[in-house]
Amino acid sequence: MTESGQSQLSRVDPDARAVVLHRNIVNVGYNVQAGCDSKHKLFVNAQTGAVNDTHALADMAIEAKELLGVKEMKTLTDKGYTTGAELARCTENDITTYSSPKAHSSQKNGLYDMQDFTYNEKEDTYTCPAGSTLHTNGTVYQKGKHRVKHYKTKACKGCAVRHLCTKNKNGRFIERGIHQKALEENAKRVNENPDYYRKRQQVTEHQFGTLKRQWGFTHTLVKGKENVLAEVHLTFSVYNLLRCMQILGTEKLRMLLKELASIFFDQIGLFESRISHSFFLIRPKSILKKVPSVRL
Ligand code: SF4
Repeated sequence: MTESGQSQLSRVDPDARAVVLHRNIVNVGYNVQAGCDSKHKLFVNAQTGAVNDTHALADMAIEAKELLGVKEMKTLTDKGYTTGAELARCTENDITTYSSPKAHSSQKNGLYDMQDFTYNEKEDTYTCPAGSTLHTNGTVYQKGKHRVKHYKTKACKGCAVRHLCTKNKNGRFIERGIHQKALEENAKRVNENPDYYRKRQQVTEHQFGTLKRQWGFTHTLVKGKENVLAEVHLTFSVYNLLRCMQILGTEKLRMLLKELASIFFDQIGLFESRISHSFFLIRPKSILKKVPSVRL
């Protein structure tokens, strides 16, 4: 581990990592990410990414948007995905996030907390409870995985309510993440649309309930990140096929799958001799849109 620079070593499956299931419960395995559409609750995409959800949102959302072939998209995610940089990347890619806001990490020491300071976007300053303006020198500091700016005022020195604000001998300073705006806009959307956010559970929980509790898909048969992802894709595709049987009816699904298979074989250059058959006379895009999340 010292030589490799890794913090974990898995001798059974080198790609597997410790994944926190609940507090104090850890499994060695994979954290499977999945995107589902809100209309039919079909799986759209999946990844076996990092061990937590913190940096998973943007990659998954951008991939889902491309797979669905849509220009704009809304996402619904729980607070594990609420990271400023991820929300900002979604916004840049015409994806509107509704991700459960995290409670502000304000100081809980009885002193003025962040909510008592008003941010002025135009000036890039804060106004404190005493009415003074906190300025930044514009420097962006790296704080762990976050990038932040600092805001201070010289008024702290002679402030009458300093004892209510800070114990720091240099006065109060505010730390603002460079993606704070994306976090605030996301929080506003969620708070203004509580019923919309509540749809999240209807969109994604049911599939995992079925896969884990009914089908027992809590362990994989194969090892290695790529192989596990393939097994996940196969399992999700089977789930999608069963869902499509309910949505489209068996006969219509059978027809669409025939057409989809023909596109697939056509694209990989097999069965070229069959191209003249009427069975293949279909437009690829229209079929793919009808069954967007079947991945072959
Ligand atoms: S201590 Fe500084 S930041 Fe706090 S209220 Fe007084 S002037 Fe404002």
